[in-house]
Amino acid sequence: MSTGDGLAAAGIHRLAIPTPFAVGRVNVYLVEDDPLTLVDVGPNSGKSLDALERALAEHGRRVEDLQRLVLTHQHMDHTGLAGIVARRSGAEVAALDRMAPVLEEFGAWMERDDELAEAIMRRHGIPPDVVTVLRAVSRAYRGWGGGADLSHPLPDGGRLEFAGRSWEVLHRPGHSPSDTLFWDAERAQLVAGDHLLGHISSNPLISRPLGGRSGDPAAGRPRALVNYIRSLKETQALPAAVVLPGHGELVTGHAALIDERLGLHERRAEKILGLITEQPRTAHELAQAIWGNVAVTQAFLTLSEVLGHVDLLLDRGLVAEEELGGVVRFAPA
Ligand SMILES: [Zn+2]
Repeated sequence: MSTGDGLAAAGIHRLAIPTPFAVGRVNVYLVEDDPLTLVDVGPNSGKSLDALERALAEHGRRVEDLQRLVLTHQHMDHTGLAGIVARRSGAEVAALDRMAPVLEEFGAWMERDDELAEAIMRRHGIPPDVVTVLRAVSRAYRGWGGGADLSHPLPDGGRLEFAGRSWEVLHRPGHSPSDTLFWDAERAQLVAGDHLLGHISSNPLISRPLGGRSGDPAAGRPRALVNYIRSLKETQALPAAVVLPGHGELVTGHAALIDERLGLHERRAEKILGLITEQPRTAHELAQAIWGNVAVTQAFLTLSEVLGHVDLLLDRGLVAEEELGGVVRFAPA
């Protein structure tokens, strides 16, 4: 039996909804159980809502039939339509309790996230004009997101019950501060959002911590990659037969895939250590040395990558941070 058949036997259908983002389509999962459930909903756009309606219709369902929305994490390609779909269907919205402020104060939260991003970009050597442009781009993209009321908050380690299954709720931050896994131990199925994708490495994007395992918001620069690696190692220990990712095909052999991902981060940390050993550099200079112009067009993404790996090197005592005029350079320890 293929894993796709296993999914259908479990009453789960993968629906791939278009997004305007580089990542392409987002997977939402229709869970034929009581309550009738949709995991993630897609970005806030008419095109995505049309696609969602058509995909539900293929399974004889309408938006109005949905009774529960489950959200895997705060990113708007997954959550943007949650408010609209919840209002139309009357479905409850179930997600990690710590995600409440992001969902319920969406615009204000995004603004604070952008303020953090701006401060980090300036401190790590991104030119002010690039920072200004990126901030405008981020505001323009915010329309793909949207708020929702979190009517069913879930604690880390709690359970989400259905008539025919029970999911354990696992807070595994790293890709985002709210990354949540839903573990069906009976079927060995892991609903994982963007925590583990088959075809691409998930990016540990720096974002405002939500407390708990995602870190203390008052504790200085968030350590997304350090959190992510800890989370990945815990996932590796789960006896999952199949992982249901937020993008791309179903993942089997997750333990080997996680080994690959850990190896990739290790090699990238070594490369960054080599560059720092040549000469002290800012995180932005490191990103440019690795990715060239992409470090400008995707400045915050590549900065998050570099800072994550620098955190690993700082923890090992291999590099040190030197600050001059509000800008940080990394040097050999
Ligand atoms: Zn995501």
